[in-house]
Amino acid sequence: MTTLTTESGSVTLRDHTVPIGLYIDGGWLPVESTFDVVNPATGEVVAQVADGGAADALAALDAAAAAQDSWRFVPPRERANLFHRAHALLLERADAIAEVMTLESGKPLAEARGEFQLSADFFLWYAEQVAHLHGTYAEGSRGGYRVVTTHQPVGPSLLITPWNFPLLMIARKAGAALGAGCTVVVKSAKETPLTGALFVEVLHDAGFPPGVVNLIHTTHSADVSSAVMADPRLRKVSFTGSTGVGSTLLKQAAPGIVNASMELGGDGPFVVLDDADVELAAQQAIVNKFRNAGQACVAANRIIVHSAVAEEFTRRFVELTKKLRVDDGFADGVDVGPIISAKQRDGVASLVAQLSAIDSELLTGGSPVDRDGFFFEPTVFKVNDRDNDVCNKELFAPIATIYTVDSTAEAIRVANDTSYGLAAYVFTRDLSRAIAVSERLDSGMVGINRGIMADPAASFGGVKSSGLGREGGHHAIDEFLEPKYLAITVDESKGLE
Ligand code: NAD
Repeated sequence: MTTLTTESGSVTLRDHTVPIGLYIDGGWLPVESTFDVVNPATGEVVAQVADGGAADALAALDAAAAAQDSWRFVPPRERANLFHRAHALLLERADAIAEVMTLESGKPLAEARGEFQLSADFFLWYAEQVAHLHGTYAEGSRGGYRVVTTHQPVGPSLLITPWNFPLLMIARKAGAALGAGCTVVVKSAKETPLTGALFVEVLHDAGFPPGVVNLIHTTHSADVSSAVMADPRLRKVSFTGSTGVGSTLLKQAAPGIVNASMELGGDGPFVVLDDADVELAAQQAIVNKFRNAGQACVAANRIIVHSAVAEEFTRRFVELTKKLRVDDGFADGVDVGPIISAKQRDGVASLVAQLSAIDSELLTGGSPVDRDGFFFEPTVFKVNDRDNDVCNKELFAPIATIYTVDSTAEAIRVANDTSYGLAAYVFTRDLSRAIAVSERLDSGMVGINRGIMADPAASFGGVKSSGLGREGGHHAIDEFLEPKYLAITVDESKGLE
C-alpha cells in the first residue's frame, strides 16, 4: 500500500500520491536530505520527506517577500475566486487528505474526516470574507479633513503548526493570512508533514501565484525559525504549539517588533455543577477528553465535579471510558487511536506514575497497550489532593483526572487556579448560572453544556499563558491586517461653489 519513491519527489500512500519536497516559489524542490515519517499505529516508516534547513527557509522568505506587493493588490473578488477554487478542490480530495492524516497522525479516520470538514468550512468562511473587508470614514473632529481608516496586510508571515490537528491548523492560519493579502511561509510539524503538503498542493492547483504560499518541512525547527524570525522582511509570526516554544518565539519577535499571534497550551477545566444533566456531562466529557487520544489543547485537563453529583458522574464516566475501543485509526468502530510517538507514549506512562504517587485512585486504564505502535489505555484518576505539581500540568494525554468540590464558588476557584486560560466548560441546567460562571472563568472560550465548540464563525484563542490573538470568526483576518489611517484634507466650501 505504501511506495517510497524519494527520487520522484512523491510517495504513494493508500493509492494517493503525496509530494515530499519543500514547496518554494511555486514549485516542489528536488529532494536532498530526508527524515522519516512514522505511522504511530504501527511504528513503521511510511514516507521520507525533505528535511529543510535555514537556507531553505530564507529562500522561502525571499519568495514570499518578492510576491507580497503583487499579492496584496490582487482585487478582492479575484482573491475570493481563488479561495472558492481551492475549497472545491479540497472537497474533491477529501478522502486522500483524511486517509493520509490518519496514517501519519494516528487519529481515527472518522476524526480525520471531521477535521477535514472543519478545515474546508474554515476555508469557505474566509472565501466569503475576503471580498468584504471594509474600512471606516468619519469627519475630522475639528472639520477640514476626513478620517479614513483602511487596512493593509501585515506582510510576509511565518506560520508554525503542530501535529495534533495537521490540516486544521494550517488551513485556519493560511486562510486568514492569504485572505488578508499576506504571503506565507508555512512550517509543518515533523510528525505530520504530508497532510500539509496535500493542502499546499491544493492551493498550487487552485492557482495561488508563485511565492504567495511556501512550505518547509524540517527536523531543525529552532534553526529554521530563528533564521526567519531574525530577517527584517518577516512581519508576522503565527504559532500554534506549546507555551514554552511560544514564549521563545515572542522573545525572537521582540527585537524587530514582529507582530505575533500565539495559540498555546491549555489546562481545560470541565465544571459539572450540582444541577447538571449528568448523563450529558459524562457523554460530552468522553468526547472532549479522549478525542485525538487526549492530545488536544482544548481537552478537559481537570474535570471538576460538585460533590452532590460526583459519584453518579464518576460512575457513568468510567463506564463509558471502559467501552472505548482503542485501535488503529483505520479499524472499524475505533474510538481512540495511538499516541503520536514512542517518546510521547512514554511521557503518558510517566504522568500515570506521577498521578499514582499522590493521594489519588486509579479508576480504569493506566497502562500502555501491548501491541505494535504507541497505544495507551484511556485512563481515569480520581484525585483527592490537588496541591501537587502534576495537577498543574497540561496532560495532553488520554488521562482524565476528576476533582470534587463543594460549591460553585469553589469550582470557579479551582478552575482558575492555573496559569493557562484556553477553553473551559460548564454543565448546569440554569442558564443564568451558566452565564454567571462563564463570565468568572479566566479563559478565552467556554463551552456551555457542550464539550466540542470549534467553528469557523467563532474566535478561537486563549488568555494568560494560553496565548495572544484569535483565529476564526471576524477576528481571524484582522490578525493579519493593520489599520491604516488616511487624513484627507477637505475644503467643505468647495461644495458651495
Ligand atoms: P511544540 O511547541 O513542541 O511544537 C509546535 C510546532 O513548533 C512544531 O511545528 C514544532 O516543530 C515547532 N517548534 C518546536 N520547537 C521550536 C522552536 N524552538 N522554534 C520554532 N518552532 C519550534 O508543540 P507540539 O508538541 O507539537 O503540540 C502540543 C502543544 O501545542 C500543546 O501544548 C498544545 O496545547 C498546543 N496546541 C495549542 C493549540 C491552540 O490552538 N491553542 C492547538 C493545538 C495544540
